[in-house]
Amino acid sequence: MAGTKLSLLDLGRMDVDDGFFIRGCNAAVVSDPHPQYDRRHIAVVASVIEHPTAGPILFDTGCARHAEDEWPAPAWEAFPLNVYEEEHHLDKALEAAGYGIDEIRAVVMGHLHLDHAGGLEHFRGTNVPIYAHELEIKEHYYAVATKEDIGAYLPSDLNWQLNWQPIHRDETELFDGITVRHMPGHTPGLLTMQVETQNSGHFMLTSDLYHVRDLFEQDGLTQGWLGRDSHNWHRSHRWMRQLQHRYSATMVYGHDATVIEELKTQAKQFA
Ligand SMILES: [Zn+2]
Repeated sequence: MAGTKLSLLDLGRMDVDDGFFIRGCNAAVVSDPHPQYDRRHIAVVASVIEHPTAGPILFDTGCARHAEDEWPAPAWEAFPLNVYEEEHHLDKALEAAGYGIDEIRAVVMGHLHLDHAGGLEHFRGTNVPIYAHELEIKEHYYAVATKEDIGAYLPSDLNWQLNWQPIHRDETELFDGITVRHMPGHTPGLLTMQVETQNSGHFMLTSDLYHVRDLFEQDGLTQGWLGRDSHNWHRSHRWMRQLQHRYSATMVYGHDATVIEELKTQAKQFA
C-alpha cells in the first residue's frame, strides 16, 4: 500500500550449534565419522512497519532486556546472546529506526518463543493489541503448565495484562496490504506476515518458519532440533515457496545475520 514503510530491527547476535537449524548437518556418517560441530553466527530479527492508517506495527519483539537473568540456564547455554548492546534492545533499536516504543499501535507475534516474545515486557498494562494465532497462545500455556516445552516458552511472557487478540484463520488481511498466514511446523501457531510497499515490492516476514536462509533457498533441507512438526513445516514451506514466487517477495528470516546485514546495507527503510 502507498505510504507503507518497513524497517528491520537488529536485536543482537548469538553463536549457536548449526544442528538446531539444519537437520542432520553435524551427524556422524560413514564418510565423515567425526564431524566438526559448527556453530553459526545468527541474529535476532524483528521489523517495524509504518502503515498509513494503522500506524507503526511491530512484527516480533526480540528478547527481554535482562534475558540472561530471565532465561533458564540451559537455554542460555545453547543460545547465548553474546552481542546484546544498548543498540540491540527493542526500545533503542526502534528509536534508531525513528519510532518511540510508545508510538507502536499494534504488535503481531510470529510466535511466542522467548527470543521473540521477550520485548512484550514493554506492552504490559497497555491497550496495544497483541495479535497471535489462537493455537500459539494455547501452546504457550500448555508448554509452560505441563513443563513439556518450558524454556522455549517462558512463564513471564504469558501475561494476562497484555491485550491479546487471537487470529483464528489460515489467512487474514489484518490491515490494507498486510496479510498474516498460519504456517505451523516450528511451532503450532506460527504466523508469517506479508507486507506490500509501493516501490520496494512485497516482503515476507517469516519469523522462525525459517531461522536461516539455507532452509528456504536450498532444496531438501529440513529444520533441525528446533523443528517440532516436520510434516506441517513442509506444508508451510511449500505454501511460502508458491507465495514468494507469486509476489517476487523479499524474504526476511527469523535469525539470518547475513540477510539482515545485506538488507540494511540496501536501505534504512523500504517504502
Ligand atoms: Zn527464534
